[in-house]
Amino acid sequence: MNKFMFISGQWVGKELEKIPVYNPANGTIVGTIPKGGIKEAKKAIDAASDAFPTWSQLTAYERSNYLEKLFQLMNKYENEIAEIMALEMGKPMNDSIGEVKYAASFIKWFSEEGKRVYGRMIPSNRGGKKLQVIKQPVGVVGAITPWNFPAAMVTRKLGPALASGCTIVIKPPTETPLTAIRIVELCEEAGIPKGVVNLVTGRASEIGDELLTNPKVRKITFTGSTEVGKLLIQKSVDQIKKLSLELGGHAPILVLEDADLDIAAKGVLASKFRNSGQTCIAGNRIYVHEKVYDDFVLKFKELTAKLKVGDPMSKDTDIGPLINQDAYEKVKNHVDDALRKGALCVLGGEGEEKNNTYFYQPTILKDVTPDMLIMNEETFGPIAPIQKIYNDDEAIQYANDTPFGLAAYVFTESYKRANRMIEQLDFGIIGWNDGVPSAAQAPFGGMKQSGIGREGGSEGIDAFLETKYISIGY
Ligand code: NAP
Repeated sequence: MNKFMFISGQWVGKELEKIPVYNPANGTIVGTIPKGGIKEAKKAIDAASDAFPTWSQLTAYERSNYLEKLFQLMNKYENEIAEIMALEMGKPMNDSIGEVKYAASFIKWFSEEGKRVYGRMIPSNRGGKKLQVIKQPVGVVGAITPWNFPAAMVTRKLGPALASGCTIVIKPPTETPLTAIRIVELCEEAGIPKGVVNLVTGRASEIGDELLTNPKVRKITFTGSTEVGKLLIQKSVDQIKKLSLELGGHAPILVLEDADLDIAAKGVLASKFRNSGQTCIAGNRIYVHEKVYDDFVLKFKELTAKLKVGDPMSKDTDIGPLINQDAYEKVKNHVDDALRKGALCVLGGEGEEKNNTYFYQPTILKDVTPDMLIMNEETFGPIAPIQKIYNDDEAIQYANDTPFGLAAYVFTESYKRANRMIEQLDFGIIGWNDGVPSAAQAPFGGMKQSGIGREGGSEGIDAFLETKYISIGY
């Protein structure tokens, strides 16, 4: 799969140096992409800027038709996109198919939501005046996406950008660009006019800098690490560029004494081990009430022990490889640190590193304490650390004791208790007796250092719109 950049309706970059894309499950090269930089980013921005006046003048219904075609194509090629994703990311096929469905759901949702971009009339305080508010697309958007959801993080930005009338330049991650490129090929097949969707691959900082400093770009939408997010904030200052940032998480899971432990064990399993633990909303710290601690650990262990580690292309596999050596070292370091400081290993606890592939067994650690690294940093791997807690106040205190605020989970059968806890949790997304809260029609995003803004839901399209107020005298 030797793929190229898409600028103004052309596949370009054939003459450029190539970057290999590796299969993290066996270390082989899956394909190549061109090493673009400032020059290519500039061209893509120009193309998006030239396409903007015509695209933004289409009716929402016309734009919706293009998105509906893209949605149909994503369904038609679901298996093929999932295979590309499994190859370049190591996401097990079942999870990959699930992600393609999830990714397509953003295109469907925003194809409809674009028709509901309403303005409003405000009663005037004086005669002879009408006060009107209209919404307009912000303009050219730069979208920078991460490797852990190679399809969904593209469509969560592409869908609302196109539906609202914006044009876009996508910079996919170096680890998993091929899935994004396949989606852009489908944009072409759907007949989306040239220049509306562009994709540039290569040197992240050069492309990022051009997106941030080129005045034709009016908005940056980024999903990735908090570290790079902070860099983008600094670099966006001169032009006060509009920013949406979906950053890292460090999700707490609270299992309270009145939880249904079967529901809790299943919920924690889904939250923790989906995508081999490489999700921003993965439960990273599990706090369990002392009264149900042993029972919960037992049930959770029984379920976790059934997870199969292996080849992502097999539909039997639950846990694939970690994305790269850095990820593996981080996971290993978190486990080693916890064991050194007194945690007990209930299951797993070992990884395998060979021929540039990095697998880690689904691991449960118990009797974990707050001083351990794993309770203070995003792990991004299949490790479930469990700490004993004694009351609700302590649970809230531990949960909120982090600079991150993306997702939190609470398992309790009590409506009153859940409501009290949920109000006190400083997180943008809460799963109450639910380990998989994401949905295209719901707002997704974090508080504190987990980001700025929301994607998905009606909030997700608002992020691509300007509000214009018109005072009309008559
Ligand atoms: P990352 O290293 O921040 O990379 C994300 C994207 O930023 C990639 O396309 C990367 O390009 C690009 N990039 C890197 N340096 C850049 C720079 N100086 N200027 C502009 N762009 C730059 O993050 P990641 O490792 O791919 O993703 C994992 C992180 O994303 C985790 O922290 C996870 O929690 C977070 N995440 C958050 C959400 C959410 O919705 N909140 C969802 C998914 C993931 P290259 O690949 O070419 O370096």
